[in-house]
Amino acid sequence: MDIAIQAEGLRKRYGGKQAKDALNGVDLSVPAGTIFGLLGPNGAGKTTIVRILATLLSADSGEAGVAGFDVRRQPKEVRRRIGLTGQYAAVDERLTGRENLRLIGTLYHLGRSATRVRADELLEQLDLTDAADRPVKTYSGGMRRRLDLAASLIAEPPVLFLDEPTTGLDLTSRLTLWEVIRGQVRGGATVLLTTQYLEEADQLADRIAVLNNGGVIAEGTPDELKDRVGDDRLRVTAASAKDVIELTKVLSRFSGDEPLVDEERRTVSVSMTEGVRGIATVATELAEAGIPVADFQLSRPSMDEVFLSLTGDAPQPVAEGAVA
Ligand code: ATP
Repeated sequence: MDIAIQAEGLRKRYGGKQAKDALNGVDLSVPAGTIFGLLGPNGAGKTTIVRILATLLSADSGEAGVAGFDVRRQPKEVRRRIGLTGQYAAVDERLTGRENLRLIGTLYHLGRSATRVRADELLEQLDLTDAADRPVKTYSGGMRRRLDLAASLIAEPPVLFLDEPTTGLDLTSRLTLWEVIRGQVRGGATVLLTTQYLEEADQLADRIAVLNNGGVIAEGTPDELKDRVGDDRLRVTAASAKDVIELTKVLSRFSGDEPLVDEERRTVSVSMTEGVRGIATVATELAEAGIPVADFQLSRPSMDEVFLSLTGDAPQPVAEGAVA
């Protein structure tokens, strides 16, 4: 299978007195026609990787190739074949959505009528037809992001870099974007996606690399990553925050592993080797300990648990519009 994006030993350190490595030797390999998810907490190095691959930043060392061209030696060739969207909105506020897309099509020398057709198609796909003739400054954050994605798709690039494309979007907009991204891949495009939403990586990505402190700490399909966490998990949510510690104590008696605690959601999970048989005993123990429970379920590890068990840290949400 052709490899659309390849990186070997990428290292990057930004300036500044207390500088540490933003990337400490990252290897990536993304087969053409697939979606690859880069997952990691704030500051893990996701944007740095995207910027290097998109030729916006040079690595201190290491090699990277996109669509068969070297990012360092053939940046123009690379730029011709990529679309980039996410944390840097590329659209002009004063123009309408339609004018923005047409302008970008012209910059890519797509030809007048092809640009018009493509712009209308994208406006339709991204639910922007009704707002197409309004200046972008009147758009909501979600509409801007959808337009930003449309802008990166105008020239139908074979490789797409989507840096947190759905951060801050509501569910409907997120689902619309997912469908458009899947459509691009069905058409043969390769997508490198960074996201703070583990669920998104789980839903969209063929393979995922988990990044922490500038290095890849795990890589595989969503299923392979879940398998690494082990058996089915029992997930219990305490009705009240004050019971989380007691709940953790009770659950730790039923599993060889350390319980994973999500304090914000008041949820504690443990791996259950005994499956359904163990559940009845846990339920009895919780009742005897007098811990009111809001939710109780047994299922495969979620991507959140994969993340927690790999990094020991919950992913930090990023404020909308925040720039790394
Ligand atoms: P986020 O989810 O917050 O966007 P990220 O995984 O994309 O995070 P990067 O933006 O790649 O992470 O940052 C990696 C590291 O490099 C961080 O420690 C960050 O503080 C640092 N860094 C990023 N850009 C710069 C810069 N221009 N100057 C100095 N340090 C930087």
